[in-house]
Amino acid sequence: MAQQHTLFIADLHLAADRPDITAAFIRFLREQAIAADALYILGDLFEVWIGDDNPEPLLQQIASELKQLSNSVPLYFIHGNRDFLLKQRYARQAGMQLLPQQQVIDLYGTPSLIMHGDSLCTLDLAYQKFRRWWNQPWWQWLMLHLPLSARQRIAMKARQRSAMYKASYTNNATTQIMDVTPEEVPKVMAQYGVTKLIHGHTHRPAVHQLEVNNQPAERYVLGDWYSQSSYLTVSPEQWQLVFHPLA
Ligand code: MN
Repeated sequence: MAQQHTLFIADLHLAADRPDITAAFIRFLREQAIAADALYILGDLFEVWIGDDNPEPLLQQIASELKQLSNSVPLYFIHGNRDFLLKQRYARQAGMQLLPQQQVIDLYGTPSLIMHGDSLCTLDLAYQKFRRWWNQPWWQWLMLHLPLSARQRIAMKARQRSAMYKASYTNNATTQIMDVTPEEVPKVMAQYGVTKLIHGHTHRPAVHQLEVNNQPAERYVLGDWYSQSSYLTVSPEQWQLVFHPLA
């Protein structure tokens, strides 16, 4: 019998122009995730999301793969900053259960906080301002009621802006702005009463040791899938970040 374990992924940024990532993800679902107790997707599964009504074939393909898996493995999804407009209609189609932005789950007896991670990057004021904006229900409502073609144009512009924004951060001091604010982490963990945190978003996979209320604690950062597949596996015995080449 396979060992008990739960899997966590984030930041796949699935897109039609990266069929290699899609192929690796489908392999991961069919070969790895199928044996897990549950799969948690912690945001930015898709490079961009303009509405559940987007007929792009890739989205239908991914939904049917996820749905297939969900017949035997519980699937959970937390929104990222790229796919925050993903709603109940697609979630149902993919057999995923939508979770709130921050959630405490029980991992074989250990209460653990899971989130996308963008809310921890408090020094990135421009981004946080934008985030407050798109978190408003009325903004999302307006956005989703635009014609599909208009949403496609807006998404393309947003991707270009994001690329320019990242490119403008050239030195160490400014790249730190885009990372998690270290002081923010123990604060949030203490607030939820946990000593384990799992998140993505920064694309800097690592295990960080820290202290929360004078207790040893750990923060697991998931990796992106640009050049390798990347996941966290949690069993009753151990927590481990795992990487595989894409092809
Ligand atoms: Mn993100």
